Amino acid sequence: MNGSSIALLGSTGSIGIQTTDVVRSLGRRISVLSAHSNIKLIEEQIREFNPAVAVMTDDSAAKELKIAVSDTDTKVYSGANALCAAVEECDCETVVNAVVGFAGLAPSVSCIKSGKRLALANKESLVAGGSFVTQLARNNGVEIFPIDSEHSAIFQCMLASSNCSKEVEKVLLTGSGGPFRGKGVSDLEGVTPQEAINHPTWNMGRKISVDSATLMNKGLEVIEAVRLFDITTDDIEVVIHKESIVHSLVRFRDKSIIAQMSYPDMKLPISYALTYPERVYNELPPLDLTAVSSLTFEKPDTDTFKCLKLAYRALEMGGNATAALNGANEVAVERFLNLQIGFLDIPRCVEAALDAFVPTEATYEGVLDADRQGRSVASSIDRKHR
Ligand code: NDP
Ligand code: MG
Repeated sequence: MNGSSIALLGSTGSIGIQTTDVVRSLGRRISVLSAHSNIKLIEEQIREFNPAVAVMTDDSAAKELKIAVSDTDTKVYSGANALCAAVEECDCETVVNAVVGFAGLAPSVSCIKSGKRLALANKESLVAGGSFVTQLARNNGVEIFPIDSEHSAIFQCMLASSNCSKEVEKVLLTGSGGPFRGKGVSDLEGVTPQEAINHPTWNMGRKISVDSATLMNKGLEVIEAVRLFDITTDDIEVVIHKESIVHSLVRFRDKSIIAQMSYPDMKLPISYALTYPERVYNELPPLDLTAVSSLTFEKPDTDTFKCLKLAYRALEMGGNATAALNGANEVAVERFLNLQIGFLDIPRCVEAALDAFVPTEATYEGVLDADRQGRSVASSIDRKHR
């Protein structure tokens, strides 16, 4: 392994697979791969990238994988703790965290503690981990490079300023509005998981697709932006932009607005997080503005999509409340995908979790506790909607 190799966590997911495409085109090496249970795909990836270590967080999948790749040099480890150990021990320069959900927090913490660059897709690390994670990164001198397209855009726009804390007036965080943009509450009664994960402009994993449909994804992204850029909710405005061409904008105090634009393709922010400060050539199609012709912007409908409001509420509650919000949302989304509750029950579960929650400090223990409490309440809410 050399210094510029990468640990890719969640390599079998939507971001993970696109990261392997980028790594292939950059000619970089991968020293760690990880998946939860997708043995078939990680075996292919092991044979292509020849990492020193592969981690399966599901124990029985790890046993099967061990046998399947016993003819290779890759060591197979199992369990969530092994993921953290692999991150700490590997001789890599950058960790790409593309795990989905709260499970991504512990490896983010391990990455920061071991002083490696963190290229972060797992927004839940920042939403749940809150100021604990950003403070830890500051104390360890570790930079976090956002892969989330909006945050990559904001990061790029902010490079236009010599002093962001003085000059940034507003962060304009864009979002497509998801598959149900323009619908009212009554239209959302009875929508199916299949309809909810059918995103108009991005092809993503199931959990984030549902989050996009409820607008919780935008709420999580507001929290992510507050943490990453050390700004307040007053500094952020969410703007619905259905074309997904402008990935976000920053307005400075001289009223100049800088935007970052491209066709929607996660390979661009993934690549930038890996090559920053350099921009490298890729084969993505250049944006044809005359073909796009018009770009539209509107206010989000937070009466219909209550999850966005709930994210603001969790931020206002302070301390570890965003971890309770995140935990409750993960359980609610899972229950919706398993047909146990209706789409409109998702905000009900999250709201109930916040109603019951009394915030304490966002220490690591505090975050774990808030996550548990959020999950427990969201599991106990009865279905009210189809
Ligand atoms: P996917 O569901 O497609 O992939 C998730 C990855 O995490 C898979 O490799 C999966 O393994 C692994 N995984 C699942 N459960 C666990 C667990 N308990 N412990 C460890 N690993 C686990 O998700 P996405 O790629 O869509 O999203 C990943 C992250 O990136 C999320 O935080 C999301 O919010 C963020 N993101 C995604 C975007 C996108 O375009 N997809 C855009 C912006 C941010 P297996 O395949 O074996 O189940
Ligand atoms: Mg995003």
